[in-house]
Amino acid sequence: MVSIYDIDGIEALRRRHAIQPHRMKLFLNALFKNALGRDEALAMLPEEVRDDVAHQVEFQTLELAERHDSEIDGASKLIFQTSDNHLIESVILRPKTGRTSLCISSQVGCACYCSFCATGKMGFTRNLTVTEILDQVVQASRLVKTEGRSIRNVVFMGMGEPLLNLDHLFHSLEIMRAIPYFNYSGSRLMVSTVGIPHAMVRFVEQFPDVQLALSLHSARQDVRERLMPQARKYSLDQLRESLLEASRHGKVMIEYLMLAGVNDGDEDFHALENYLRDIPVHINIIPFNEYAGCNLRGTARPEREAFANRLKAAGFDTTLRYSFGADIAAACGQLVQHKRGLGDGLG
Ligand code: SAH
Repeated sequence: MVSIYDIDGIEALRRRHAIQPHRMKLFLNALFKNALGRDEALAMLPEEVRDDVAHQVEFQTLELAERHDSEIDGASKLIFQTSDNHLIESVILRPKTGRTSLCISSQVGCACYCSFCATGKMGFTRNLTVTEILDQVVQASRLVKTEGRSIRNVVFMGMGEPLLNLDHLFHSLEIMRAIPYFNYSGSRLMVSTVGIPHAMVRFVEQFPDVQLALSLHSARQDVRERLMPQARKYSLDQLRESLLEASRHGKVMIEYLMLAGVNDGDEDFHALENYLRDIPVHINIIPFNEYAGCNLRGTARPEREAFANRLKAAGFDTTLRYSFGADIAAACGQLVQHKRGLGDGLG
């Protein structure tokens, strides 16, 4: 079996079956640019090779297990089942601007254990494969195609820490950008990280035009360590070095989740202002999405706005994030699934 995402393997198969390059191009276009199904794509190939290609190529490994549509804001949560029975989630966002986005997962669970994140509570199971990462994009694209939409942006903000699955992340980004495949420009792709300094530097070196978002959440070492255990491994000073390096390639987005009485005070504001001074960043203020079993509380909207306005006044490009899919537990940090059949029920 050769994966559809194995560029060399697919080229070898093309040669073996003497398929003309333009027929292969039509086939890949059908799958990835036109979001057609497997059989419709196979119909682009000469009839005599279709069966062989169908049997020799691995197209998809995820099964769509469930779909939940938000009643308030047009978000849809897709729950996929892997071939070893794990459940992962992707979220389709349909903002009023019309730019449909897809939020995808990079791991089953997560090893970072951020105190505010539901995914962290489920622990880490395994990295997603390249096929599993990209299958989320393929299946979501097919789904929104039926609504006359296409996926405009893909963000790695679902389950998992993408920079701890670096090889598969890189390979997936290559395929998403590859002309015969999805042909996404880097500006349409975003990777969000807890902040793993050496991996951030490797990432921007390899993909200078792909957007990078850093989940900072506090510029105070002690506060950040309490919120994000990873911060004990990589200090804020170390992180700032890699942030400087990354921002040489373009603005980095700083994600700042606002938690009442934790990171929303005066001292927090000044620490943030100092930390980011002279670094070209875009600060995104995020509302906390609550979930069962978490005792943290989000900062109220007026205080979030005031915090954002202070940042703006200090010269920072700052926006407030609206959370999609809160009613279907599809918002940031609400993604949590358990292995099928273990009786935990679905989100
Ligand atoms: N591991 C990556 C990507 C996944 S989380 C990262 O940490 O960046 C995507 C974003 O959602 C991160 O900014 C994360 O901090 C934020 N997030 C996690 N839990 C949240 C919650 N309960 N409410 C709001 N945002 C949350």
